[in-house]
Amino acid sequence: MTFNKDARVERSRVRRGGGAGTGVAVGGGTLLVLFLLSQLLGVDLTGLAPATDPGVQGDDGDTVGSCTGEQANTDIDCRMSLTYESLDDYWYTALPQLGAGYVSPEMYLASGTWQTGCGTASSAMGPFYCPPDQSIYVDTSFFEVLTGQLGAEGGPLAEMYVVAHEWGHHIQNLSGTMDGINRTDTGPTSDGVRLELQADCFAGAWAQNAQSTEDADGTTLLEPFTQDQLASAMDAAATVGDDHIQSSQGGSVNPEQWTHGSSESRQQWFLTGYENGPSACDTFASGADL
Ligand SMILES: [Zn+2]
Repeated sequence: MTFNKDARVERSRVRRGGGAGTGVAVGGGTLLVLFLLSQLLGVDLTGLAPATDPGVQGDDGDTVGSCTGEQANTDIDCRMSLTYESLDDYWYTALPQLGAGYVSPEMYLASGTWQTGCGTASSAMGPFYCPPDQSIYVDTSFFEVLTGQLGAEGGPLAEMYVVAHEWGHHIQNLSGTMDGINRTDTGPTSDGVRLELQADCFAGAWAQNAQSTEDADGTTLLEPFTQDQLASAMDAAATVGDDHIQSSQGGSVNPEQWTHGSSESRQQWFLTGYENGPSACDTFASGADL
């Protein structure tokens, strides 16, 4: 049991299908590079694509509908829906405490190829956050890649960690952290890796407080995590480390190509957030232990 069976979301804010409207022009070159990179990484490509038409919102798709905690324990769409509510409830309070205003992101369960404010996206990109349309896109089949190709233990909290990481990028977008950084550089101390490790740290901060998040009626959304569940989230963080991904794909480990950070760093920053809260997540500080 992970979700409180009595928790309930009357009208899910998670939608099925792509987000931003059609007719968004995308450069083919960018697309190709994005696709190849995503093949390599298996995880998000936050903000790499230039914004083509910020703020376009067309077909909103169907929402997941109503869900109970009991359904969320067995149904992935409901699990994503209650995960949304938990993250939204946490950051609604936590982000203002960091000095920034909070706005809920959009979240879409998408598959195949679809349009976003960042251009055309595909399932091959894995879950990602698109800053211009403030939307999180998740193809839940990624969780099978995580446990299959990448060898993670998986489980509900591992899945929630993935969403919480993308939510972390939304927090960075709202707090201005994404402004003025070099997103094209790679390597263990690059701005891109600092951004990714901070998103892991924010995910950890949520995890520490997730058990007290509530639905609209004030019912607790989640049961207390077991040590095994926490370990599964840590395991997921390690699994999407650049060194693990590089070696699992049969290549050599090349830190200069890292975009998300090593398995060890990703675990470490998740834990930093978990133990010390979001104010301890300054991966951009000089002397930050990356
Ligand atoms: Zn990321």
